[in-house]
Amino acid sequence: MSSTFPTVTVLDIPFINTTTAQFTAAVQRRIVQQQNTFVVTANPEIVMYAHDHPDYRDVLQSADYVTPDGIGILNGAQILGDPLPERITGFDTLQALLQWGSDQHRSAYLVGAKPEVIARLKTILPQRYPGLNIVGLRDGYFQDAQAVADDIAAQAPDMVFAALGFPKQEQFIATYRHTTHGLWMGVGGSFDVLAGTVARAPEFWQKHHLEWFYRTVKEPKRLKRIAVIPHYLRLVKQQAKRQRS
Ligand code: UDP
Repeated sequence: MSSTFPTVTVLDIPFINTTTAQFTAAVQRRIVQQQNTFVVTANPEIVMYAHDHPDYRDVLQSADYVTPDGIGILNGAQILGDPLPERITGFDTLQALLQWGSDQHRSAYLVGAKPEVIARLKTILPQRYPGLNIVGLRDGYFQDAQAVADDIAAQAPDMVFAALGFPKQEQFIATYRHTTHGLWMGVGGSFDVLAGTVARAPEFWQKHHLEWFYRTVKEPKRLKRIAVIPHYLRLVKQQAKRQRS
């Protein structure tokens, strides 16, 4: 099986058209082959930020895979007449890769989130993923990015997970990814969820594509994220119109 997937381009960002299972399998193959890999999981807020910031758009376009993390991306692909099968979220992918890493005795470096979240992960991760070789676990509030990158390079992990939020995590990865042979992936607020400090929406809300609503009510600061959606959908409709004519 090849590791390349067809893509659907939504406002200049090419999203892979596949399932979480196939995507995860492709990433695992690349890790085994020691192929350097940069994964971005993007939602409409990230797409709109890239739309307004060409430097960040270039960073996203340099990734090996951009996955549709957000129902808004699925809606966008639908409008473009090229539907995607399902969301591929940073959190689900992170969990699948940590489990695989534990089963296969692979190494991982985790950087991001607040010190108290990292303190909890220091206890939780070895219990949950006993076979995983955790070669780095540090918070995301560092001053010296080069020093962090040097440590990652020295550890040469199979997988680097950066939970610094966007655009920081993608900029960090694009700058330093070539210092190791492995996977580099931005995972947003996933460490907070992993540590249990932020809950994912209950299954009911996820199943009905309302996780965004649940999380916005729980965390009103997220409102600015969904505020971009009307503008995003307008731009996608304009793209669809251009492509039809
Ligand atoms: N963060 C960090 N360093 C920073 C800014 C943010 O490590 O300089 C962390 C923050 O603690 C949180 C994550 O990055 O764990 C961003 O989470 P958010 O919920 O904003 O991202 P999303 O999941 O929506 O992408």
